[in-house]
Amino acid sequence: MGRVLIIGAGGVGAVVVQKCAQVPHVFEEICLASRTIEKCRQIQSRTPRAIEIAQVDADSVADMVALIRRFQPDLVINVALPYQDLSIMDACLATGVNYLDTANYEPLDEARFCYQWQWDYQERFREKGLMALLGSGFDPGVTNVFCAYAQKNLFDTIRTIDILDCNAGDHGHPFATNFNPEINIREITQRGKYWEKGQWIETEPLSQHIDFDYPEVGVRKSFLLYHEELESLALNIKGLERIRFWMTFSENYLTHLRVLQNVGMTRIDEVEYEGRKIVPLKFLKALLPEPSELGANYTGKTVIGCILNGSQGGREKSVYIYNICDHAQCYTEVGSQAVSYTTGVPAMIGAMLMMTGVWKGQGVFNMETLNPDPFMDALNQHGLPWTVTDFHKSI
Ligand code: NDP
Repeated sequence: MGRVLIIGAGGVGAVVVQKCAQVPHVFEEICLASRTIEKCRQIQSRTPRAIEIAQVDADSVADMVALIRRFQPDLVINVALPYQDLSIMDACLATGVNYLDTANYEPLDEARFCYQWQWDYQERFREKGLMALLGSGFDPGVTNVFCAYAQKNLFDTIRTIDILDCNAGDHGHPFATNFNPEINIREITQRGKYWEKGQWIETEPLSQHIDFDYPEVGVRKSFLLYHEELESLALNIKGLERIRFWMTFSENYLTHLRVLQNVGMTRIDEVEYEGRKIVPLKFLKALLPEPSELGANYTGKTVIGCILNGSQGGREKSVYIYNICDHAQCYTEVGSQAVSYTTGVPAMIGAMLMMTGVWKGQGVFNMETLNPDPFMDALNQHGLPWTVTDFHKSI
């Protein structure tokens, strides 16, 4: 059916390649390109189908344009870093190719987690008749689709949404992040924020928490964070009164993070070191294990989902929609841990729906604005089955 160009040979990129390779009638030709060609080569060598690889600096629009002209893809999947979103979108516009990513654009020097830069591409994509799908990972991504599914099939009005992200796995390292350390630590150390009655309410970083009893995992302390899907869902779920996001962290993780913060290792500004400038967080990333290398001995599960309150047919109701994913099973299937897997599978599904024309449009789209039903079916078929239950407690 078509050709796909995947940018980024990290933890998520490795899963996207394996999952696209499993659907050959849609992804007939695959090219994986990244900054370090050796990482592409490693993924290529463990992919059961022949794929092309290429070296690219995705910060350079000219490099990206040249690569796209050479490979002629129908779609570019961007699973490099959020810093590259705009240059890859520019290259797609210049070459007339559709675009998909899993994380919103971030400037290098400030943690913002804001869609505006990419929403500003709306007219340019529309004028060229192209589609850009934003945030097709798990959160954002599947969580947005869960909300859209609930809005379409389970509620007349949704009043509150709580998104809960639990990783109850153990990778055996004293400290490691499950996706790119720079982005992960920027996200966690920023101020918390949630949306209520049209207002954003800010909180001190990690200052609010609840104990939540996760299915198959048990009670875990879950901290209020700002997460990027809150911005689009607050706009797109009509009648919504409040939306919050919670994520679990172990005491061990938080202690390491506190020490790193206290000594300045999570700073994202440049500091002078022996006559050259370095960014402490980038240096820390170089010391930490790569997300793509955590899989081998990872045990335990992730549980990510949404609790929605509202009404249907005049009756008050509350439902919990979630997926449970097992680190070791992901490793057996594709050689990766569950955080990379739960991001890479939805990226493949979003790409599949675009390549087959099931999801089509002109402009820039957040996931919840598209028909959730085919995506929900595909989750069940491609490794991320979900459950819907009534939820009787309040959080
Ligand atoms: P990794 O750090 O493991 O991989 C990132 C890859 O991008 C690396 O291979 C890196 O190359 C490559 N890269 C970085 N800069 C460039 C560049 N200028 N040109 C070309 N390639 C480049 O990160 P992850 O795989 O864990 O995460 C990938 C993306 O997925 C991130 O944007 C992250 O925020 C997002 N994500 C989204 C989630 C969701 O649920 N929506 C959840 C988890 C992650 P090199 O090897 O040379 O460093």
